[in-house]
Amino acid sequence: MSKKITLLGSTGSIGTQSLDVARMHGYEIFGLAANSRVERLLAQIEEFHPQYVAVVNEEACDKLEGMLSGRADAPRLLRGAEGLRTLAAMDGPDVVLNAVVGIAGLAASLAAIESGHDLALANKESLVTGGHLVTDAVRRRGVKLLPVDSEHSAIFQCLQDANSAKRLEKILLTASGGPFFGMKTAELAGKTKEDALKHPNWNMGAKITIDSATLMNKGLELIEAVWLFGLPEDRIQIVVQRESIIHSAVQFADHSIIAQMGVPDMRIPIQYALTWPDRLPSPVEELDFTKLKHLSFDVVDEETFRCLAACKKAIRKGGLGPCAANGANEEAVRLFLQDKIGFLDIGRLVEGVVDSDSYGGDYTLEDVYACDAMARAYVKAHV
Ligand code: NAD
Ligand code: MG
Repeated sequence: MSKKITLLGSTGSIGTQSLDVARMHGYEIFGLAANSRVERLLAQIEEFHPQYVAVVNEEACDKLEGMLSGRADAPRLLRGAEGLRTLAAMDGPDVVLNAVVGIAGLAASLAAIESGHDLALANKESLVTGGHLVTDAVRRRGVKLLPVDSEHSAIFQCLQDANSAKRLEKILLTASGGPFFGMKTAELAGKTKEDALKHPNWNMGAKITIDSATLMNKGLELIEAVWLFGLPEDRIQIVVQRESIIHSAVQFADHSIIAQMGVPDMRIPIQYALTWPDRLPSPVEELDFTKLKHLSFDVVDEETFRCLAACKKAIRKGGLGPCAANGANEEAVRLFLQDKIGFLDIGRLVEGVVDSDSYGGDYTLEDVYACDAMARAYVKAHV
């Protein structure tokens, strides 16, 4: 069945793989949005002919406007963060896929949901920073929230039988462990961005690749799972699965476990979010158990990887705790990628922000942005 999609964050790792899926199945693209990579965006416009394109960075928007001037089939351009929100809210698509990185994706997720759109969500930061706003809006508007993150897609796939889902006892959230698995604090101290950007199994954007090295990504995913599946943090066990073949599993009341497996390729979860509850053929290679031979498991080392410990503390505190952890991490990763702080500073700063307040209670969208700004200021003051 054909689909019409608005794709936010189209120039990124998830964005381009989403377009691979769209190309394969002949899906129509209603709108595209990106921050600044206009050459890539222009090529996407020429291939998919969207009706609307939002460019968040002002200079990039001017540049694209120049490139498109005089073209009869040029899409309508929307500008800035406001343009991104406007596009997310527009009627036209069957589904909005949010693959923006960071808290910048939150307003677009809320705009899409409030306008009654089903939301395929790769932008985990939407749930981490504004989980209660996002899930309230989903309930109020009666739309579908379809996970794209591979672990959450796996859990979602394992819970498709409604009778079993009622007896969900525990989630087994798998983690590759990242490039520094098994290392201790002393060894991590000298790690550079070049070391951290080498992920063993996945090829992803820079921010999530650093998050995978610090295990912040698993902390964010733990919080994401709490919001998506309604289990408390202490019923979500993180299990290291080095090969990234088991994408996560669930355990039911009878201690039967169902896991979802496949080669590590994000086009599988992206496609499932777009075809759910149906499944379609995929270009992704088959998983061959006879070549695989073994799967290995281990425990995560929270003593060493403080970002994960900080995320657990944050979700236990509730309220804006996770938002603070996320804001501190976004700022710290930005500084790390500019060689301004060391690898271990990321965990120190994230934990520092989480420990600095009690955070509980309800919040508004304004409170989320204020907390995010506070966390970023904390990081700048404590580097
Ligand atoms: P990326 O850096 O490759 O791409 C990010 C996209 O967001 C780009 O299109 C960029 O133009 C856009 N963007 C950046 N800043 C923006 C802003 N201020 N406003 C609007 N758009 C902006 O990132 P990615 O690896 O594709 O990850 C995207 C999201 O998906 C993240 O939340 C990440 O955690 C999640 N995710 C990624 C993977 C993966 O394999 N890459 C897997 C699971 C989840
Ligand atoms: Mg993931």
